[in-house]
Amino acid sequence: MKEMKYHAYTLHNYKEIPQLKKLSESSLEAIEVVGHVLPFKSNNYVVDELIDWNNVPEDPMFTLTFPRKGMLTNATYKEVLKLLDKADNEKLEKKIYEIRMSLNPNPAGQEHNVPVMEGNKLHGIQHKYRETVLFFPSQGQTCHAYCSFCFRWTQFSGINELKFAMKEADLLHKYLLKHPKVTDILFTGGDPLTVNAKILSAYIEPLLSKEFSHIRNIRIGSKTLSYWPYRFLTDKDADDLLRLFEKVNKAGKHLAFQAHFNHPVELSTEAVKLAIQRIRNTGTQIRTQSPLLKNINDDAKIWANMWREQVALGLIPYYMFVARDTGAKAFFELPLEKAWDIFRKAYSSVSGICRTVRGPSMSATPGKIQILGITEVKGEKVFVLRFLQCRNPQFVDIPFFAAYDPKATWFDQLKPAFGEENFFFETNELMTKKESDSDFLWE
Ligand SMILES: *Cc1c(COP(=O)(O)O)cnc(C)c1O
Ligand code: SF4
Repeated sequence: MKEMKYHAYTLHNYKEIPQLKKLSESSLEAIEVVGHVLPFKSNNYVVDELIDWNNVPEDPMFTLTFPRKGMLTNATYKEVLKLLDKADNEKLEKKIYEIRMSLNPNPAGQEHNVPVMEGNKLHGIQHKYRETVLFFPSQGQTCHAYCSFCFRWTQFSGINELKFAMKEADLLHKYLLKHPKVTDILFTGGDPLTVNAKILSAYIEPLLSKEFSHIRNIRIGSKTLSYWPYRFLTDKDADDLLRLFEKVNKAGKHLAFQAHFNHPVELSTEAVKLAIQRIRNTGTQIRTQSPLLKNINDDAKIWANMWREQVALGLIPYYMFVARDTGAKAFFELPLEKAWDIFRKAYSSVSGICRTVRGPSMSATPGKIQILGITEVKGEKVFVLRFLQCRNPQFVDIPFFAAYDPKATWFDQLKPAFGEENFFFETNELMTKKESDSDFLWE
């Protein structure tokens, strides 16, 4: 296969994209205005192979990586436009910072889950659930393109104090040695597969030795299959990366590739199909997840098709998430009732083999909360919920109820049903502790 050269498009060079002549003046203006506030990056694969330029700006793949007008409120949009026209850079930068801070840059209390070891905060690690440690390699705090809905957008926009990145693989390994209950390490980002194979090996290979026998599953969360499948085909270290995958599997660990796909179009190119095949040939299992997003995939048929196609390609549908309450949320958010309706319609229209998927799930401060449905209990309409993941593992899988609210889009807008004051978990000490001193939490 002939080598594909990666080429990023950002606010600085997007005007070079030939297909942009298909866009109206107002859509072009939106790229300029919104692109100054929310990080913007696309690339030649997304532009040439995924976006249907006869359908812009509504095209879901266009909307996934390009700024659209509705991603800012009207008032904010006008303010930024005015400052851009005046070319007053100082004022503009101040305004942009202000706007970013108002967009809930760090949702769901992620900073609460940074563990402490020997008195030091480990900023590249999040340990929220007993079995699984999240690791953010500092070199992987970027992606092959930026999703316009991304909840990690602050990591790309230079708000430094919010970066979770950590330099030392050493600290990660020390931490894991101290926590024998951890079975899973999940490499995340950004996208950890923006990191070269050599550096990834430095993080991963030591975990294959005997002292890490408690680590059973090495997981990599990545959107690279959909944004740059050539990472597994023709990039310089593509073969080295696949050999690393193979090594993990041969060492008797499960290498779990958590692939992010938001739309079936991302599964349709020759490049992605070949890349999937190559990854699967290393013994790696690919599972899939995506948020539910208005203007991108808010239709049960899209999800049913996506799951069917994934299964056909040997992937396992894993999670459907509710879009997070951050960034351009008004553009993407759906009422929880609608989210459940889409999930149920899609889930009930596929065979059991696709129903490994769980959702819709909100990654909220207390844990991953699934909307099981809406029903009536003694004349009161309620949401039925359960934890798929919880800071306190004892609460997982116990159904609980919230008062029905047709407008609610996120867990923090829900109130306990039946006039109760608290949800059953809210008074529990494990749930309210801020500093996640994991030794204390899970003994
Ligand atoms: C989702 C998530 C995990 C992994 O959960 P699984 O249900 O095992 O896939 C781990 N840590 C955090 C903070 C998460 O949000
Ligand atoms: S791939 Fe993931 S981390 Fe990267 S921009 Fe998209 S949602 Fe954010």
